[in-house]
Amino acid sequence: MLQNNLFLTSNVDDKNKFIDYVNRAANTIADSYTDSRAYSGLTPQELKELIKETPLLPESGIGFDSVLEKVKRIVLPNLLKVSSTDYMAHLHSPPLMESLISELILATGNQSMDSWDQAPIATEIEVDVINQLCEIYNLPKDSDGIFTSGGTQSNLMGITMARDWFCNTKLDHDVKLLGLPQEYNKFRLYTSEVSHFSVEKSAHLLGLGYNSVIKVPVTNDQKMNTEILRDLIIKDLESGFLPVAIIGTVGTTDYGSIDDLETLSEICQEFGIWLHADAAYGSGLILSQTYKEKISHISKCDSITVDFHKMFLLPISCGAFFLKDKTNFSHLTLHADYLNREEDEEEGYTNLVGKSMQTTRRFDALKVWMLFQSLGKKSLSDTIDKTLNNANYFYKMVDSNPNFQVVTKPEISSVVFRYSTNKLSDDQVDTINKRIRRELIHRDGIVIGQTIFDGRVFLKLTLLNPLVEHKHLDNLINVILEKSNYN
Ligand SMILES: *Cc1c(COP(=O)(O)O)cnc(C)c1O
Repeated sequence: MLQNNLFLTSNVDDKNKFIDYVNRAANTIADSYTDSRAYSGLTPQELKELIKETPLLPESGIGFDSVLEKVKRIVLPNLLKVSSTDYMAHLHSPPLMESLISELILATGNQSMDSWDQAPIATEIEVDVINQLCEIYNLPKDSDGIFTSGGTQSNLMGITMARDWFCNTKLDHDVKLLGLPQEYNKFRLYTSEVSHFSVEKSAHLLGLGYNSVIKVPVTNDQKMNTEILRDLIIKDLESGFLPVAIIGTVGTTDYGSIDDLETLSEICQEFGIWLHADAAYGSGLILSQTYKEKISHISKCDSITVDFHKMFLLPISCGAFFLKDKTNFSHLTLHADYLNREEDEEEGYTNLVGKSMQTTRRFDALKVWMLFQSLGKKSLSDTIDKTLNNANYFYKMVDSNPNFQVVTKPEISSVVFRYSTNKLSDDQVDTINKRIRRELIHRDGIVIGQTIFDGRVFLKLTLLNPLVEHKHLDNLINVILEKSNYN
């Protein structure tokens, strides 16, 4: 038997149930923020114990109240608290309060962005947000874009466009219809050795394979070495390879380093190559009145990946993909009789599915729309500047301390460093740094990142939270030094 009040409708009982659920859930969630730690400290084994006796699909349901109780006891206390100033591990943002309400609104409305008749106002808002973003990023008037699930999907779209554009214009071959051309194993994609792994993943999914991805060495500041790149392209052309695309990174995941897009675009012009900018991290710099020049050359790229669930402090998922020349979206378009009839377009109905890899898709544009208007330029700019200033401060502190080693000066808001001493071997130093990170999680509730640089274990701070103050960073340095001393 179905229970009453299934959906939010115009019925008063339905409304009351909705308001009651939202109120109680909001109270329960808020109550779970009991201290400033980023994590409860429970180990994987302890978490498994906690959920062990929960049958997923009981014969009869235990009801919403009991489930909410369970969420209160099991889930909420052990969530990673992304808004904690002790969470500095990944490109994973604390979502701003305004955007939590956007999520409630977009989930309640449950619009699906594939066709206008499933998302009337949502479609018009997404189109408008995209158009205004094209202006904000200074893209030409023929540019266009679409919201995506994030950087991975946007990168896959960029590399797909590059491949299809190359086949169409250089080989007179329609991949959409015919699949890969015979020469596919000669295709080359160039990206730096510290770019995101989704470049290789895309190459695999697009039938080109990891071997098509040439990992160009970086300079000391972790940017693609454009002289080496140039030589590689010339040599590859001489050997009969086909350079298809360069994927520049605007904010590498570990170091925040920004590739020299100006030189990359010159190389692309010279050799007739597609330029994709992976700005999943660095795209947020556009909000900073102080630092936005760092990414000004983004407008020279053929395609661009933007992530709003990183520096923009919006909840997952929220990303976008932009094309300098919107006609390239035709590589993705497929008309389905039930969804996006060609006659719709002629009559002024926009069906966004034609520009997307997804079919059913969330109204994530609402989050950007509400955030930008709520906070405005000045506030958003201050937020970003604070995180860059923090990264600079932390860099100075570890760089001037002989117990630490640091890779490079931060370009955005991340610092890769490690505890180091010449009294111990490199392997011992690796072990100490790994131990420090684990202890921080389980004993102190402090979560920081870890990566490899030059074959050695390093620690990483990604400082997206504008509430972090110098005192938090000073404290972290002290805690790390304390932990390095006892065994
Ligand atoms: C995070 C990141 C990605 C992947 O983006 P998702 O939103 O996690 O899919 C791609 N490139 C870079 C440089 C990133 O930092």
